[in-house]
Amino acid sequence: MSRTVKRAFKYRFYPSAEQAAELARTFGCVRLVYNMALQARTEAWALRRERVGYNTTSALLTGWKKTEELAFLNEVSCVPLQQALRHLQTAFTNFWAKRARYPTFKSKKRSRRTAEYTTSAFRFRDGKLTLAKMSQPLDIVWSRPLPAGASPSTVTVSQDAAGRWFVSLLCNDTITPVPAPGSVGIDAGLDSLLTLSTGEKIANPRHERADRQRLAKAQRNLARKEKGSANRAKARLNVARIHARIADRRRDHLHKLTTRLVRENQTLVIEDLTVRNMVKNRGLARAISDAAWRQFRTMLEYKTDWHNRNLIIVDRWFPSSKLCSACGALADRMPLNVRSWTCRCGTVHDRDVNAARNILAAGLAVTACGDGVRPQRETSRTGQSSAKQETPRATKGIPVLRTVEDVN
Ligand SMILES: [Zn+2]
Repeated sequence: MSRTVKRAFKYRFYPSAEQAAELARTFGCVRLVYNMALQARTEAWALRRERVGYNTTSALLTGWKKTEELAFLNEVSCVPLQQALRHLQTAFTNFWAKRARYPTFKSKKRSRRTAEYTTSAFRFRDGKLTLAKMSQPLDIVWSRPLPAGASPSTVTVSQDAAGRWFVSLLCNDTITPVPAPGSVGIDAGLDSLLTLSTGEKIANPRHERADRQRLAKAQRNLARKEKGSANRAKARLNVARIHARIADRRRDHLHKLTTRLVRENQTLVIEDLTVRNMVKNRGLARAISDAAWRQFRTMLEYKTDWHNRNLIIVDRWFPSSKLCSACGALADRMPLNVRSWTCRCGTVHDRDVNAARNILAAGLAVTACGDGVRPQRETSRTGQSSAKQETPRATKGIPVLRTVEDVN
């Protein structure tokens, strides 16, 4: 049975000087409107204990546009400004539901430059995309085709820190899930990126180690440059470019990997790594690994949803490393430098493969008893994963879970 899912297709594009100026103006207005609305909502609550919602901020925006000092807001398309208010509303909803921190102001330098257009603010015809306030279509590099007959419902334009322009088109796509026989447990490794319960180890993307070293060097170089100087701006761009290259390779690698894992397996079990003791993996390497894991999990969440697979998240206090996957005995201590160990039952374990097998077993135990199910929060900021999913969590049914305090 096939199903329709919302899917984002992202492409690079090369704006004309005129388009680049229009978009830069729009990004600036989006940021300003977001910040002013945030300010208004914060003040209303702090001073009058008043909850200001989207409709009120929308009315405020209309008022701002009529003032002399903010009249320039009329020069850009109004849709991205309204969308900024909607994003702020989402940020507050997430805050009230205790899923996120209090919204913060968007900074000119550090925040993502982005503008979102809904159908009334763009035209998509004969494979050409024209945004409001523009006379010419965007010069898009169609690196992969859109689904046949697709027409985008939302278009998001962004510019990254390395200065590259992207457009993301949210389209309906039809997916026909095909049943798969396998189940797999996946452990986030220290030496390798991931280890599977099948014994397979998945390495980091090629060149990543070298890129990390280059990044560290570029960051040291940036720190030495005088604030406000032209050389500092150049050094910052260099850091941004290396970051972008690492992120691109990482994303490609994770996309191929998650697509394969979802195609081959009906049940996938991962660990909840909200906090994890990755002592050997400090600093930069750690930050990148953590980001990679979050990205991996997000991709698995929406792809398993698309293809009707079961994704099970095992509780993070589960002692996956210390438990013998053959006999169930619990080892006393398992320092991080121990890469392989022999259980009292005589089984010799690779640390990560053993952990992945335990994760799989814990996940299958949950599906068998059907216990410990908790609704999963929506992960996609952009709402790409439109169908909410119930992800079972292995927090019950495994007695050893509650007794262990010192875990991997
Ligand atoms: Zn054993």
